[in-house]
Amino acid sequence: MTDPQSIAERMALAMRHQAEGRLAEAATLYEALVAEDERQVNARHNLGMVRLATGRIAEGIALLEEALAQDEDNPGWPASLPAIGMTLFRLGRWEQAAPWLERAAVAGTADAEALAALDRARPRDYLAPEVFVPATGEALLRYAPRESGTYVYAIDVSGLCNLRCPTCPVGNSPPGGRPRGFMEVDLFRRIVAKARAECPAEKPEVFLFSWGEPLLHPRIGELVGIVNEAGLASHLSTNLNIEHGLAEVAKANPTSIKISISGFTPETYGTTHAKGDLALVKANLYRLRHELDRFRATTRVWVGHHLYRNNQDQVPAVQAVCRELGFEHHPIAAFFQPLERLLEVAQGRGAPHPVLDLLLEHPASYVPRIKASRSGAYDCELRFNQTAINFDGTVALCCSVYDAANMLGVGFLDRTHDELEAMKYAHPFCATCRANGLDYAPADLG
Ligand code: SF4
Ligand code: SF4
Repeated sequence: MTDPQSIAERMALAMRHQAEGRLAEAATLYEALVAEDERQVNARHNLGMVRLATGRIAEGIALLEEALAQDEDNPGWPASLPAIGMTLFRLGRWEQAAPWLERAAVAGTADAEALAALDRARPRDYLAPEVFVPATGEALLRYAPRESGTYVYAIDVSGLCNLRCPTCPVGNSPPGGRPRGFMEVDLFRRIVAKARAECPAEKPEVFLFSWGEPLLHPRIGELVGIVNEAGLASHLSTNLNIEHGLAEVAKANPTSIKISISGFTPETYGTTHAKGDLALVKANLYRLRHELDRFRATTRVWVGHHLYRNNQDQVPAVQAVCRELGFEHHPIAAFFQPLERLLEVAQGRGAPHPVLDLLLEHPASYVPRIKASRSGAYDCELRFNQTAINFDGTVALCCSVYDAANMLGVGFLDRTHDELEAMKYAHPFCATCRANGLDYAPADLG
């Protein structure tokens, strides 16, 4: 027969291990307690949390569900529900986080952060929960899109860039007859009006970039103004290697500006932002702050700090400048694009790309891992939640493809939303992309 005192002592020891980060030791004790006595609901709950923390998500959720079913009235649940929901949300497991966050909301223990997470994790009401794809005969599930809480139009207002980054098609792909130029202002105005009128979501967002540098557009301020006048959020992404245009942009007050930076020394920056001038970028960071203040702009500015093997030591320097200027700093592992080149690398074909050895992880390593984590049950959010439009008004299959074969070959103004959707779902490259795990979809539970 089990000694209750001994159980209490072992439980206390396991909790101490857990609190101090010795998760393997904690798990061993909790496992023994649960095996010994089915009624040890706290041990089962805590083992579930340890499983989540160590990446055994499916097991963790199963244990937590069992614990909840076993002892729904346990006074520990009100505090635990939001903690479980936020753990899963931060792990990117939004579909699994949502029920726990819902329960926390009902219990009245979801704080503002948990409620915001719940709002993002809920499926969008403008999207059908699943779609049938005639081209492949599959029924695919939709989910809450990660890139934005609403529908996105990615409009490449500048069909050219001044840099040649080796992880971007502008730097690593043959031009292949791809047209280059700036979008006409009137065309942009009509595109935004049509998007506003026919979008399934009440308020879509507009990205004024895809594979080009938007601040090169000679009338970029006017373009931002058109989006703002339509009552939609306007987002820019820039390399900041520009000699003019900052005042116009600041005056137009876009919703957000992302600044892409890789290294913070001329040598590292010049390798991964090829043809870029770091001194100009640094000067422009300060000029941008000055212009935003001058026009009292409310723009959110964030630096996307692309991490490579040769620049991780420079994170504190970029962070310090961001802090000084009031910009957000988001370090993110650099990745290789577009999808067509990534597929070649994953399949061991195509031209050699020396930059791949600078990535924190080589695509030959991470692509098979991602592919193995997917069951293929989910649709791709770049297909169901986004329309990518080139500078000449034609439509691309999605914002991650570059080659002429993956353009839809029709003008955005010449087709309805539903017609464009049908063309996307009939395009053969999506099946290839999905078969190789390159689509934008959540992983299955592991
Ligand atoms: S700055 Fe941006 S668009 Fe230009 S080459 Fe680099 S990644 Fe591509
Ligand atoms: S499945 Fe691949 S090619 Fe198709 S929309 Fe998604 S990312 Fe683009």
